[in-house]
Amino acid sequence: MIKRINLSLSPEDSHDETKIRAAVIEHLQASERINMTSYRLVRKSVDARSRQPVFRMQVDVYITEQYTPPQPISINYQQVQHKKSVLIVGAGPAGYFAALQLLALGIQPIILDRGKDVRARRRDLKAIQQDGVVDPNSNYCFGEGGAGTYSDGKLYTRSKKRGKIEPILRTLVEHGATSEILIDAHPHIGSNKLPKVVANIRQTIIDHGGLIHFEHKVTDFILDRTSSSPSIRGVVVNDTKEFFGAATILATGHSARDIYLLLYKHQLRIESKDFALGVRIEHPQSLIDQIQYRQKKRALQLPAASYALVCQVEKRGVFSFCMCPGGLIVPAATAPGELVVNGMSLSRRDSPYSNSGMVVAVETKDLAAYNNKSYEGIYDPVFNGLKFQQEVEQKMFAAGDGSQQAPAQRIVDFCQNKTSKNLGNTSYIPGIYSAPMQNLLPAFVANRLQKALPEFGKKKKGYYTNEAQIVGTESRTSSPLRIPRDAESLMHPQLKGLFPCGEGAGFAGGIVSAAMDGENVAKAVAELLNAKK
Ligand SMILES: Cc1cc2nc3c(=O)[nH]c(=O)nc-3n(C[C@H](O)[C@H](O)[C@H](O)COP(=O)(O)OP(=O)(O)OC[C@H]3O[C@@H](n4cnc5c(N)ncnc54)[C@H](O)[C@@H]3O)c2cc1C
Repeated sequence: MIKRINLSLSPEDSHDETKIRAAVIEHLQASERINMTSYRLVRKSVDARSRQPVFRMQVDVYITEQYTPPQPISINYQQVQHKKSVLIVGAGPAGYFAALQLLALGIQPIILDRGKDVRARRRDLKAIQQDGVVDPNSNYCFGEGGAGTYSDGKLYTRSKKRGKIEPILRTLVEHGATSEILIDAHPHIGSNKLPKVVANIRQTIIDHGGLIHFEHKVTDFILDRTSSSPSIRGVVVNDTKEFFGAATILATGHSARDIYLLLYKHQLRIESKDFALGVRIEHPQSLIDQIQYRQKKRALQLPAASYALVCQVEKRGVFSFCMCPGGLIVPAATAPGELVVNGMSLSRRDSPYSNSGMVVAVETKDLAAYNNKSYEGIYDPVFNGLKFQQEVEQKMFAAGDGSQQAPAQRIVDFCQNKTSKNLGNTSYIPGIYSAPMQNLLPAFVANRLQKALPEFGKKKKGYYTNEAQIVGTESRTSSPLRIPRDAESLMHPQLKGLFPCGEGAGFAGGIVSAAMDGENVAKAVAELLNAKK
């Protein structure tokens, strides 16, 4: 018999195995104690609602039966060297998890990514941080592991629809992530640990006969339009080399603007969608700890505190996004001449700063003014979101000195339309300079942020303070475009064999949901190949 019990322990006791065992035993009847073989922690979370934060724990107690660990997921991977091959464009979480699923289904994945492997990519990140040089093919969004590699590595998703999260987490653990992510209610890996996990996944794919090509940017599609139902036969890489596959999974992420143009060029439908844009907000982590834990100093066993804030201002959501406790703000532009910021953290989350996106929902109807503006020479409202996003990023860049130094403002000053006389310290390595953000941001975004921040200060006493500053601009929350797909076959409705996947297609928002979408798409690919037999 397995008995599930709930424990509530102080931060100190929750890290003391003897105390945990004593608490477990206290929950059992005498006969259960005698027959207990083992117990297993299945869920752990911090509950900071009461005066003293506690850890809530769910524990499975094994009585008269033994705990048997589940079979490793990797046991299912087959050798696929001589099997049918499928192209995967993009080595992000969607692409890599699609590849692992293909291995399980006996299909050979051939992965093409414009960026470099995790190790080589690190040099390009250093060049952005230290010299302000953005390589359009290797940066915080592009390269092995995708946008998720040098991130916070938060592994939770609100989506319960796309499949179970646990197999994704177990796959990450089998590739080197800490097993803590299996029990943490808010698991994260950290950008110092993620590259190793990503490299191990690559090795699994190669060991089973999959192929991975870096610095292979897909620049065109090879289509067969001879029949009544057109299909994709392959892709062109770096304008020169051709690759063919039985199907193509397009998992290029939210920043591959050239892929949207390519689809448009081939008259394949893309759709505009709502997204969000704003700033990063940075507080001292000690202040967020005090607000959330109501303690002068955070207990050693407690994690750096996080928060989630949301309110409505003039019929638009304003919300915190991708919060990075104990983290760093990073430059996430994907082309020269843009300024984009995002957040990441190391596994220990021990930087003295807390940062979060603070964004305003942008709806397609807000952007009618862009109908008459061109995107790369194209006048089509479908690109309005991209035009708007890029315009803000370029304006932020143009306000500076040509480097990746970012405009910033203390938040009370921002809400009172005052340029800050000076700024506080920041985690953002390229540096920040004082600027009137209310003038650099689009007015409908700035106005709503100015109303929301004091509201958030009422919900969280101490949050609305000049100790916090905003940094511009957080513009890549999600893609302003969707690549449609049939709900059943998961193929593009106009092109047989093309499987839009992950965040760039509008079917995921984060590492875990992208990974789950990758798995689902791989299963749909297998169905297509089986039907063809
Ligand atoms: C700094 C940062 C921090 C983040 N923190 C978190 C977090 O903590 N938790 C979380 O859940 N999410 C986080 N995210 C978001 C998360 O990384 C993405 O949601 C996720 O990576 C999307 O996965 P994907 O596979 O769909 O696309 P991506 O990860 O964007 O991968 C797309 C891949 O396609 C490649 N590609 C693009 N165009 C081409 C082309 N033409 N040819 C070949 N290859 C191409 C790119 O090089 C890239 O590797 C963060 C993002 C950033 C930038």
